Amino acid sequence: MSPDRANIARILAAQIEGSGPISVAEYMRTANAEYYDHADPLGVDGDFITAPEISQMFGEMIGLWLADIWMRASSPTGCHYIELGPGRGTLAADALRAMEKFTFTPDVHFVETSEAMRAKQMEFVPQAKYHERVETLPDDGPLLIVANEFFDALPVKQLISTHAGWREYLVAREKGDKFMMVPGTHAMDHVVPEHIRGAPPGSIYETAPDACGVMFELCLRLKKQGGTILVIDYGYDQPGLGSTLQAVKNHQFADPFENPGAHDLTAHVNFPEFVNLANMQDLQVRGPMGQGSWLTALGMDYRAATLAKAAPERAEEIEEARKRLVEGDEMGSLFKILAISSQNWPEPEGFAV
Ligand code: SAH
Repeated sequence: MSPDRANIARILAAQIEGSGPISVAEYMRTANAEYYDHADPLGVDGDFITAPEISQMFGEMIGLWLADIWMRASSPTGCHYIELGPGRGTLAADALRAMEKFTFTPDVHFVETSEAMRAKQMEFVPQAKYHERVETLPDDGPLLIVANEFFDALPVKQLISTHAGWREYLVAREKGDKFMMVPGTHAMDHVVPEHIRGAPPGSIYETAPDACGVMFELCLRLKKQGGTILVIDYGYDQPGLGSTLQAVKNHQFADPFENPGAHDLTAHVNFPEFVNLANMQDLQVRGPMGQGSWLTALGMDYRAATLAKAAPERAEEIEEARKRLVEGDEMGSLFKILAISSQNWPEPEGFAV
């Protein structure tokens, strides 16, 4: 472990020692800021692999989806392509190439906090303009927003049911730079959805304060400026119980409470929270539905066949990638797609059952 990374555990331990247990959200925010600032975690040689890194087909299908909805909205001018946490910029490059075939060439804005990731993205999408936060995104013209495996990296707060009621579940110091979980003292029952409030002691409920903040702002923008957001991530489609906090290093699970900043901390996305925010702004909501059915409905089988015909020597590899993205026991069901659009935008493709 590099000396820098050991410091994160020490900094968190010192904070806890000085001012008492901290929120899981605080712990995750600090650890992930360090993790993503360090290096490129994506790909076979990194810690995890994402859909756009598996195959160009993924970004292309998203580009086609965006071009289609834009054309059916009568091809408005002044649209912006926005991507949240664009990784290496692979998805954006593939999507923009597909969109260009339909003469759709919006300007490009990336929301990305990591300098290391920005450097990678600039190689593939040099025209992108950068934002630290969604609040500075352009406030004129429709927004076409894509977020693949972005929201799962944002911090979650955990609540635990105790005999005295719901409490925030906090990170305390066990000894040295080791951490343990303890319930807080403030009543938090009001935060837990009513129908799961009666869950037995020990039950955990997760809520995502930063993700909700981002989504709230984007919903306001979609209502005012028009456009759509496509969220692709692993998560649950009904409010659920249980801790989904996990750490991944070298494609293996690790202990989230050891070596903060050295591995990717993620949690399942609470899609019902996003649906509520969208409904509050009276936006169109489609999904969440499984990534596999959505990609297949958009015609990914045809795209795979075309690619295989053009490069027969790669046919097997293309078929493997297709299966990985769509099959139920691979990424097809765990990963969900949610589309939120302004009321005056057309019905999005791929969601009809
Ligand atoms: N969408 C990409 C990468 C997913 S990894 C893909 O599918 O391959 C998560 C991405 O979100 C990384 O680019 C990371 O640097 C970025 N990120 C993490 N936390 C962020 C935050 N709070 N604000 C903006 N970007 C963040």
